[in-house]
Amino acid sequence: AHEGILRRQSLRESAARTYARSLPIVPVRARGLTIEGADGRRYLDCLSGAGTLALGHNHPVVLEAIKKVLDSGAPLHVLDLATPVKDAFTTELFHTLPRQLADDARIQFCGPAGTDAVEAALKLVRTATGRSGLLAFTGAYHGMTAGALDASGGAPDVRVTRLPYPHGYRCPFGVGGERGAELAARWTENLLDDPKGGVTTPAGMIVEPVQGEGGVIPAPDAWMRRMRKITEARSIPLIADEVQTGVGRTGAFWAVEHSGVVPDVMVLSKAIGGSLPLAVIVYRSSLDAWQPGAHAGTFRGNQLAMAAGAATLAHVRENRLAERAATLGARIMGRLQGLAAAHPGIGDVRGRGLMIGVELVDPDSTAPDAVVPPPAPALAAAVQRACLDRGLIVELGGRHNAVVRLLPPLTVTDEQVTAVLDRFADALAAAER
Ligand code: PMP
Repeated sequence: AHEGILRRQSLRESAARTYARSLPIVPVRARGLTIEGADGRRYLDCLSGAGTLALGHNHPVVLEAIKKVLDSGAPLHVLDLATPVKDAFTTELFHTLPRQLADDARIQFCGPAGTDAVEAALKLVRTATGRSGLLAFTGAYHGMTAGALDASGGAPDVRVTRLPYPHGYRCPFGVGGERGAELAARWTENLLDDPKGGVTTPAGMIVEPVQGEGGVIPAPDAWMRRMRKITEARSIPLIADEVQTGVGRTGAFWAVEHSGVVPDVMVLSKAIGGSLPLAVIVYRSSLDAWQPGAHAGTFRGNQLAMAAGAATLAHVRENRLAERAATLGARIMGRLQGLAAAHPGIGDVRGRGLMIGVELVDPDSTAPDAVVPPPAPALAAAVQRACLDRGLIVELGGRHNAVVRLLPPLTVTDEQVTAVLDRFADALAAAER
């Protein structure tokens, strides 16, 4: 079955298929961190549905919540009508939000994907401000629909002004650290204040508190607070894209909590649906300039996703899994930094909580004036393959696809973390040979 399924997929599916290309496995069963393939092999899954599975695969509380809806006779599809399931989800979500936002927030169900919620956020701030431009950042990823692509830099559009995102390792200013972030913030201020800079006051600024697809780049807290100040002073709504960073992943329930920044809009998806498709925006009620029907869509009320999501949010909150993510993340980073000291092919280890990246570089071909060695996408791909050979699923990211990303579920055990790190170390050694 295994080979046949892979062959038919490669024949029938679009050339755009991505994960399936680098991860030729056929999952048939899964639990927690573990996936079992049709070939009988078992894998430790550190991709977690691109950060979706906060509780891992098929967590009992998620399955229970889904079964409860199925057994209750409740309708599975009711557009955006009020239901007890939706009410429970919204109540639980608001319970977790930063207080200052939750006290005065509106929610718009979008969906089903993160990119739909990004579109809704962009549309909302354009309606509310009557302006059209958008501030977004280098290396950003917000989705694959047209507006989200603009914000990601995939389809450049004159309405989008791209600002430098602070990158501690590949710092655009060549200095890294807090100083590099400070220079990035000043660059932004200068541009916005330059009457001839070509940037009229935009409708909003969209930022990931930790860039995920961009190569796991955590923004310094001080820089996030600067972005809040810069936008506040100019009445520019600040949109935090927490599609990947949300629900405990970075060691806080929401990544904006690290800096204390209260955004005007939060874009949420992935883990909030407990492994089923769900996407929402929450925003200050003062931005709610929409007329009835201004934002619609058939699939904005997936009852199973709301039930699975409410159970996930409650489980993460009640079991303090964000704190656990912080602890485990520190342990993983420590071991990876040890590996980096012994492997010149590791240029940088970075992350926050259980959102971790290892950037692979080519130390032998550093240009004389370069601050850091060039990225090594071929080595990264070899590490990914070697990981898969050892039963470990990891994904690559970053502008040059040279960053190995580790996104284990927040429920990963200490023993599993050790197994993941052992396999990774072994794969790295094999890939470098
Ligand atoms: N925003 C961020 C920060 C993301 O990481 C992603 C997906 N990786 C998206 C938006 C888009 O979500 P989706 O793939 O569900 O459309």
